Amino acid sequence: MFSYKITHRSSECDARLGELETPHGVVTTPVFMPVGTQATVKGVSPERLEELGAEIVLSNTYHLFLRPGHKTIEGLGGLHKFMGWQRPILTDSGGFQVYSLGDLRKLTEDGVKFKSHLDGSSHLITPESAVQIQKSLGADIIMCLDECTSYPSSFEDTKSSMELTLRWAERSKKEMTKEAMEKNKQSLFGIVQGGMFDELRRESVEGTVAIGFPGYAVGGLSVGESKGLMYEMAECALSLLPEEKPRYLMGVGTPEDLVNLAENGADMFDCVMPTRNARNGTLFTSLGKVIIKNEKYKDDGAPVDDDCTCYTCRNFSRAYLRHLYMAGEILSSILNTLHNLHFYFSVIREIREAIMADRFLSFKRDFFNRIEGDS
Ligand SMILES: [Zn+2]
Repeated sequence: MFSYKITHRSSECDARLGELETPHGVVTTPVFMPVGTQATVKGVSPERLEELGAEIVLSNTYHLFLRPGHKTIEGLGGLHKFMGWQRPILTDSGGFQVYSLGDLRKLTEDGVKFKSHLDGSSHLITPESAVQIQKSLGADIIMCLDECTSYPSSFEDTKSSMELTLRWAERSKKEMTKEAMEKNKQSLFGIVQGGMFDELRRESVEGTVAIGFPGYAVGGLSVGESKGLMYEMAECALSLLPEEKPRYLMGVGTPEDLVNLAENGADMFDCVMPTRNARNGTLFTSLGKVIIKNEKYKDDGAPVDDDCTCYTCRNFSRAYLRHLYMAGEILSSILNTLHNLHFYFSVIREIREAIMADRFLSFKRDFFNRIEGDS
């Protein structure tokens, strides 16, 4: 079963609450999806992830295709069983990772040829094979193969890239067999591209919606453009997408981004930031970022965030976390990751409560007033 229904619309802005029903359970939106690149959210066990309140995780097709291989995972009972996660999973199509390979890839009408970053072996992913790989992984939500337009790009290049993504979206939908669609076991989301041009974003939305998907993602953001431009493009696409379908903003973002873009009606977010930054010793707090290696935390007996109720903040001081980080201890990554994910889920919870109570704008004002932080 896959369905989406809006349960409350903000009276003040485009923010909304919704319920996304998937074969592995219901997800409340807005939602943040931690990234589990290699079939694991780095530094945190699935048990802890559930305790933290993660409702859905994202995993990367590109990485699992290369290692250990989707057929291996399928043979072992699918990705949920393989990684010990029984709640919903969304997989990306691999398009973004391949895009990140730069010179190691070659794009044709058929698909994208690339060399593995692991052993240099050559592979081809087509829109059809991207669907097949994700189907065999058993993800609840799967994504169309798209071309993430590089930044900066000319209008002409962006347009032809966006049109290729549309043709690939059509092939992807065809590949989702009628049988799969009827059984409603997995659902395929379309991806809006169009780079940094309003007009092309609009064309992309119209073309993708015309093909018809149960949900839509906005891709090609946070690729090097300014924050202002990112917001402009996200808002443009979000405002044009059909209201009754879930809207997923790919690869976004910071806690501030979640607040700003939930306001514009974004329902789903994913980002490596809470987990990656945790391993780099950057902690997100209600007062802004804490860079734990800073000398000023050497004798600081306070928790990372006084307002935080996570395991890390309840039990450890900034001084201890700094010590673990400086000593290169594994526990540093684990405790920092717990805190950062807890913080992201708290922000999401506050966003939901503010939407529900029709006080989103005052919540947003307070949220931004608090932030200062290290730089
Ligand atoms: Zn904490």
